[in-house]
Amino acid sequence: MDGRYRRCIPAGQRIFDVGDEGSEAYIIETGVVDILGVDVDDTRLIARLGADDMFGEMAPLGDGRRSARAVTVEDTTLFVIPRESFLQAVQSTGPLLRHLLRMNIQRVRRMSTGAPAESGDHSLADRDDRASAWERLRFEQELAAGLDRGEFLLHYQPIVALGVSGAPIVSLESLIRWQPEGRSRVAPTDFIPIAEASGQIVPIGHWIIDTACAAAAQLAGQGTPLTVAVNVSIRQLDDVDLVPCIEAALNRHSLPPERLRLELTESILIHNLEGTRSLLRRCQSLGLSLAMDDFGSGYSSLAYLHQLPFDTLKLDRSFCEEVLTRDATRKVVRAVAHLARDLGMRTVVEGIETAEQAQVMTELGIECGQGFHFHRPMDLEAVLPRLRSAENA
Ligand code: C2E
Ligand code: CA
Ligand code: CA
Repeated sequence: MDGRYRRCIPAGQRIFDVGDEGSEAYIIETGVVDILGVDVDDTRLIARLGADDMFGEMAPLGDGRRSARAVTVEDTTLFVIPRESFLQAVQSTGPLLRHLLRMNIQRVRRMSTGAPAESGDHSLADRDDRASAWERLRFEQELAAGLDRGEFLLHYQPIVALGVSGAPIVSLESLIRWQPEGRSRVAPTDFIPIAEASGQIVPIGHWIIDTACAAAAQLAGQGTPLTVAVNVSIRQLDDVDLVPCIEAALNRHSLPPERLRLELTESILIHNLEGTRSLLRRCQSLGLSLAMDDFGSGYSSLAYLHQLPFDTLKLDRSFCEEVLTRDATRKVVRAVAHLARDLGMRTVVEGIETAEQAQVMTELGIECGQGFHFHRPMDLEAVLPRLRSAENA
């Protein structure tokens, strides 16, 4: 930590007083600080604080004014936290936590000053947070009810072999859909982040795994065995029941493990390398197929590729968008295809929308493709007639 943010104050000095402007909070490194409530004719001790205690956070987070006095009891060293650091941290949380924080600050202030409870006294920001906090809570409740009511469904987007006549389907990616009763469908990009933040992705994830395994088992039962991929989100790495849930689903549907593929994005890997590594090892020992998703979408984790047991590399859609116009993109795709092959990984490029893109990707050495040019995501019933061959990836 930077020395500029430390302050040493001798015993018996005032750090701030009631009514002062307050743009900093403090953590006591060493020493003792008294927090005093000050009325016209009375001073009372609110708290005596020691090492590691924090104080002075209410003004920078609230209206910027001190509502108590802080005095050093001993020689004290403080670690100073500027208002900006606080605000950044607060802004990066959700509205529910911001609202909770503001409510608590108001409550503590009223208790320390003895002021009566006020109503309707809310800043615009507070009212915004309050409204979005409610909206968010309602949304989370609807998600939970949606799961109970069976409003989620899986669609499946075929992945095809490139450069093979008729582009046979070699595997499927499951993609979740939410169809709330009486309302229009909600896109996964609109509800997955909320389900992740609220932890609801855990039960939803269990449902996804079971449903995808059931679909894969149905395909195998009809003589068209295909691997079905499910997307795993970062929050699911903390789910201690994830692997048991996978094992139970494989058993329940009598599905060989290689028929289930987990897709993990590059960003999950970067944010939680250790968590990902341990999950991947367990899944590898179960015999699952493992894909790195969205490869090339902002991170360059080539370095990790050979350390992790992925058998499939999915190149991000952005490669397709650029492959016809940028020579550099073609070079990168060719090199990645080469490297993946050397590492024994299958390559899939996502987001193929035109025949030209499919052609160029094939020429660059990519083995499989996924995109609207071939097939859109659809329900399982719609996939069945398209399975001309039982080839598998
Ligand atoms: P993703 O895993 O990269 O999934 C591929 C997305 O690209 C899908 O969007 C798919 O419909 C879309 N796509 C496929 N081909 C094309 C194409 O040719 N052009 C374009 N423009 N798009 C194409 P979708 O279904 O809206 O899903 C979006 C994202 O939501 C997924 O990205 C994934 O991150 C997440 N998601 C979807 N289903 C699940 C799920 O079951 N679990 C979790 N954790 N995340 C999911
Ligand atoms: Ca995916
Ligand atoms: Ca993807």
